[in-house]
Amino acid sequence: MTLTQSGLNRRGFLKAAAGGGFTLGGLLGFGLDLRAAQEEVRRSRIAGAREYTSVCPYCAVGCGQLVHVRGGNIINIEGNPDSPINQGTLCPKGAATFQLAVNDNRIKRVWYRAPGATDWDKTMTLDEAMRRVAQRVKETRDAEATPTRPAGFQETWWTTTPDGVKVLKEVNHTLRIASLGGATMDNEWNYLQCKLMRALGVVFIENQARI
Ligand code: SF4
Repeated sequence: MTLTQSGLNRRGFLKAAAGGGFTLGGLLGFGLDLRAAQEEVRRSRIAGAREYTSVCPYCAVGCGQLVHVRGGNIINIEGNPDSPINQGTLCPKGAATFQLAVNDNRIKRVWYRAPGATDWDKTMTLDEAMRRVAQRVKETRDAEATPTRPAGFQETWWTTTPDGVKVLKEVNHTLRIASLGGATMDNEWNYLQCKLMRALGVVFIENQARI
């Protein structure tokens, strides 16, 4: 049974759903096709908004998204039905992109907890925190240095030069630093993080995303 067959037009149905004490979920139980009503709700939600095409930032699948902006603010992000990749769908992570951009819970200051402390210190500036991280990374790498290995490299490997000479090379890595990534790190961030960690010789690089 569709809404039309049941004698309800779209506007009437929404009015009844809002004020009549029954729910969309309840109507589903009667076998009603709710797609038209859902489309109407969607339309009213983004009424007057400008629509921009974008790409989900989270993984290399590259699902197309529609971003709706009203008054300079993002009000909605959803899958782009014109995208040949996802045809309007988004995985749970991509479907939460709106919350990545608009979220009162985003932490916008540095939280630092000193070794042994039980409370967060929120007075540190970003510049101070960045300097501290850089200093710790340098100290950690320097601590690996020995008289015979001033660069601190722990391992070696043999290779053969084009003229057939066998040479021992040092592996430019550290096992003292690890990088952990979270689900909200997007492609660009992961690219930069990975590049930085590789340049520092970090081999323990992990990220939650498994898409
Ligand atoms: S995170 Fe999900 S929605 Fe985003 S590009 Fe990857 S598969 Fe698509």
